[in-house]
Amino acid sequence: MDDCIFCQIVAGDIPSRTVYEDDDVLAFLDANPLAPGHTLVIPKAHHERLNDLPADVGSAVFAAVHELTPAVEDAVDASASTVAFNNGEAAGQEVPHVHGHIVPRFEDDGGRPIHALVSERPDLSDAALDDIADAIAGH
Ligand code: AMP
Ligand code: ZN
Repeated sequence: MDDCIFCQIVAGDIPSRTVYEDDDVLAFLDANPLAPGHTLVIPKAHHERLNDLPADVGSAVFAAVHELTPAVEDAVDASASTVAFNNGEAAGQEVPHVHGHIVPRFEDDGGRPIHALVSERPDLSDAALDDIADAIAGH
């Protein structure tokens, strides 16, 4: 993907502060960090969304996230982290190449939890919840 900024980082055409690399995965500091140590973890191959990742690549990305999360926290002396993927445009994904965010968190950093994503929660009946659970389980 010639016009993909993260593919250009993988190719070495755009510089990055790389913190981890293996055959399938690259991790580097976010250029516009939400906190010191904000790190992005990407598959080297171009896939737009988590939904598009082959299982082995998904496993490799998660293994790297798992390994890097404590390393990132320790590097900046954070007491926690928010780990998230904006998965698709409607979810706020701006770069259409899968990337996980590891955002270090600090006591009283003024940040908010994942539950702050929406201002109004849906009011779902038990029947609707049952249907949704069945649809996911039966996929
Ligand atoms: P998202 O909104 O989940 O697509 O996040 C994209 C992230 O990529 C943002 O946090 C940007 O700051 C970051 N980003 C964009 N371009 C670069 C770059 N060249 N190097 C490092 N991070 C970048
Ligand atoms: Zn790409």
